[in-house]
Amino acid sequence: MSCSPFDLKDYILKELADPQQRQVEAHVKTCQPCQEELAQLSLTEAALLALRDEEIPQRIAFVSDPVFEPSPWRRALAAFWNSGARLGFASAAMLSAALVFFAVNRPAPAPVVHVASAPVQTIAPAPPSIPEA
Ligand SMILES: [Zn+2]
Repeated sequence: MSCSPFDLKDYILKELADPQQRQVEAHVKTCQPCQEELAQLSLTEAALLALRDEEIPQRIAFVSDPVFEPSPWRRALAAFWNSGARLGFASAAMLSAALVFFAVNRPAPAPVVHVASAPVQTIAPAPPSIPEA
């Protein structure tokens, strides 16, 4: 905390008008805490200026951007597999469909053969011949 009439950071960054700059300089010459704070700010400024300039990334994306969201198809699939109720419904629907399919397409019954009834001649077996003695 400085007792300077103006912010020392503005002074360091040269954002003050000339009369205000001179006021701060006059104050800093007589105030020990402000001299120390100004020295620290100068060190910080020197460290910042020592860093090389980097190009600002052209494309900045946030996690909430739609680019990072999975496709609607993938979201629907994930929601489906994570829901027991939906899986149960799908199983019941598949079972019902299978039952209907096999009820409609069941194999034809074996053909019934009608045999025309012809007069049946029964041939009685010949009585056993008794040998004559
Ligand atoms: Zn001061």
